[in-house]
Amino acid sequence: MTSVQVAVIGGGPGGYAAAFLAADLGLTVALIDPEANPGGVCVYRGCIPSKALLHVAQVIDESRHARAWGVEFGEPKIDLVKLRAFKDAVVARLTGGTGQLAKIRKVQYLRGRAEIIDAHSLRVKFEAGATGDDIVKFEHAIVATGSTPAIPPALAVADPRVMDSTAALDLPDIPKSLLVVGGGYIGLELGTVYARLGSSVTVVEMTDGLLPGADRDLVDVLAKRVGQTMKAVLLKTRVVQMKAEPKGIRVTFEGAAGSDAPKEPLFDRVLVAVGRRPNASVPGLDRTRVRVNDRGFISVDEQMRTGEPSIFAVGDVVGEPMLAHKASHEGRVAVEVIAGANVAFQPRAIPAVVFTDPELAWCGLTEAQAKKANRAVAIAKFPWAASGRAITLDRTDGLTKLVLDADTETVLGVGMVGPGAGELIAEGVLAVEMGATATDLKLAIHPHPTLTETVMESAEVFFGQATHVYRPRRA
Ligand code: FAD
Ligand code: NAD
Repeated sequence: MTSVQVAVIGGGPGGYAAAFLAADLGLTVALIDPEANPGGVCVYRGCIPSKALLHVAQVIDESRHARAWGVEFGEPKIDLVKLRAFKDAVVARLTGGTGQLAKIRKVQYLRGRAEIIDAHSLRVKFEAGATGDDIVKFEHAIVATGSTPAIPPALAVADPRVMDSTAALDLPDIPKSLLVVGGGYIGLELGTVYARLGSSVTVVEMTDGLLPGADRDLVDVLAKRVGQTMKAVLLKTRVVQMKAEPKGIRVTFEGAAGSDAPKEPLFDRVLVAVGRRPNASVPGLDRTRVRVNDRGFISVDEQMRTGEPSIFAVGDVVGEPMLAHKASHEGRVAVEVIAGANVAFQPRAIPAVVFTDPELAWCGLTEAQAKKANRAVAIAKFPWAASGRAITLDRTDGLTKLVLDADTETVLGVGMVGPGAGELIAEGVLAVEMGATATDLKLAIHPHPTLTETVMESAEVFFGQATHVYRPRRA
């Protein structure tokens, strides 16, 4: 038996950020996870491997595009074994690092699955070959068990050619034809990878647009390029049935696609990416006062406390957005509360980045959310076609947008689409969190020539004074 002040269940970005901070604050910590090292879905089969592959996809695309600049590389030859090895090495390097960081901090890493015994103890079911104390007594526990791909019954086909994101990241082959079900984050990111590697990709999305949570003017820019990258994008369409046949997966569509798409086409592979569901059914949790809400998430308050005073919960298992940085931030809040600080999870801006080409990013309030809430906002947009840096990159298809409080000119939200938008959005996060105004953004000198200038010039647009576009301020 081992006794610790904090037991963290789940070693993803929520769990390991929490465990590391708890140790840094001088608390004794056990971290329980079935993988060899901390990392969770994000590092082993999510954010990191997908971004390694997207980087390669981008290189392929740029090398092709270089012809237009007078540089010819020839058609790329894809060595799948090497590509997998690169991706696996990226994951191994990061997870090796988190393992070391756990050791240095004296976090007891128990490689197994936790089962709750009661509000102050748990049992670890060790993975084969792993050892340690199997009973952990704790003053506080943090549940950070994450989420798993959601596969609706109509899409659950027991055939390896029907993949979830984890299987798709394994890159079993480059199928001639791939159907991606779901035009959200995963569908678009992994669809882009396979399309760049040479697959003919069809995306099917049941709503009337890609990425339902993002503002349409930003999505329109992305959708244009996605339309060129993919063989087809079928909106307002659902997959109602899939059948495994020797020659492929036969798919039945329902909805708008019916008119211009074959009724029951055959695909070499299918990627199902229609969302994720929280891992809230941790064995034994029902013996405590921890409660799960009607959407399957563990209910927590702003301090990440569950209904059981000794148990906290963070990350994908407590609600959307299911993003790594949101999980980590919640994990750190939970630990600070455990350590006695009077803090809460109250972000003004959680950034979202879709790592497609172009990248799409936003933070704070979207224009659609503002409209829904009947808030008086002013919108200022700067087209990247007027950015010197975008023109040097031969990528003028971007857009930067500010959502401002109409009365105070405070920045409530920032959205952008374009190469590198995922990096640029951090300025928007700081602006929203610090309560910056359009004047602040206008007066802050931004380096030239960079895409960051599009943020400054969006603010200038708001005042009708942008240097590189002529948009007089409306009275
Ligand atoms: P997880 O990372 O899911 O970790 C939970 C861990 O708990 C897992 O290791 C699990 O095995 C373990 N566990 C479960 N039950 C138990 C138990 N009983 N005992 C012990 N351990 C248990 N987010 C981003 O912000 N940016 C991205 O670019 C991004 N890309 C993604 C790409 C893909 C393909 C996917 C699938 C997800 C992506 N995400 C991305 C989402 C991100 O991975 C999650 O939001 C994040 O991992 C959530 O962190 P977490 O700590 O809540 O849980
Ligand atoms: P998602 O919610 O982003 O997108 C799912 C899409 O599938 C939605 O657009 C939805 O309308 C559509 N859909 C649902 N059922 C359908 C059906 N039967 N037929 C056709 N379309 C259908 O979910 P995801 O892409 O699976 O990703 C899960 C989560 O993982 C994301 O919401 C995000 O939180 C996280 N993630 C983040 C990143 C990132 O930060 N870059 C990358 C990947 C995943």
